[in-house]
Amino acid sequence: MKQIFDMHNHSSFSEDSQSAMGDMIGRAAQLGLKGIAITDHVDFNPGDEGYQYFDERGFSREFEIQKSCFNSELKILKGVEFDAPNLYPDHFHFFTESDYDVLIGSVHMIGDVFVGNREKLRHLSLEGLFNAYYKNMLEMVESGGFDILAHMDFPKRYYHCSKGDPELIDAILEVIIDKSIALEINTSPLRKNYNETSPGRDIIKRFQQLGGQKITIGSDAHSPEHIVRDFDYVLNMLKDFPGLIPGYFEKRSFFVS
Ligand SMILES: [Zn+2]
Ligand SMILES: [Zn+2]
Repeated sequence: MKQIFDMHNHSSFSEDSQSAMGDMIGRAAQLGLKGIAITDHVDFNPGDEGYQYFDERGFSREFEIQKSCFNSELKILKGVEFDAPNLYPDHFHFFTESDYDVLIGSVHMIGDVFVGNREKLRHLSLEGLFNAYYKNMLEMVESGGFDILAHMDFPKRYYHCSKGDPELIDAILEVIIDKSIALEINTSPLRKNYNETSPGRDIIKRFQQLGGQKITIGSDAHSPEHIVRDFDYVLNMLKDFPGLIPGYFEKRSFFVS
């Protein structure tokens, strides 16, 4: 596992994680990874449970302390997973102007409702829900400014299927390719009773067909035992997609891993 970078991980600076940052990094060091990115949630949607939870100063202070505690064999990368940066440009601007290694853009919400809340989204068919989600995502990627597009078909973590208008999906892929945004392969659905990564094989194939190359792999771990979980599955799958280049971001630049 020497060349492995897990580019998507959370610590207790995220509302939905209780894991100490040092424990997350310690686990990565113990596993002999090449690198780990700590990418805590930054949420400014008032409907999000993590609304304004992120303590940027505390996070930066803890990150520096932890980084100094580990030897240089492990690259420890400073990041955030910012929900819909296009909707909160002033808040997002702070991060693009700071010393972050990697900025992940993601969509978790439809309006002010969490994507996984079927009850509140019952006015939408599942197809409609995925399309509403992808429309938000298209607006986000068109606005750009971040490095990695997270868990592209995220609703499947909750609905155990992947739907959506193929033209909308293509449009998102074309924009990220054009803007040099990496496509994340997120392994979390595999530990949530679903037999695919996010995105799954069909979207990954389309990304390659459209000329996409840059990818990152992320476990979306919220606790140490989930770091690099199911990366062997991804590495095996990538044998079918020789045009894709796995890598990592440091100081906002992409490097091949
Ligand atoms: Zn996410
Ligand atoms: Zn995440």
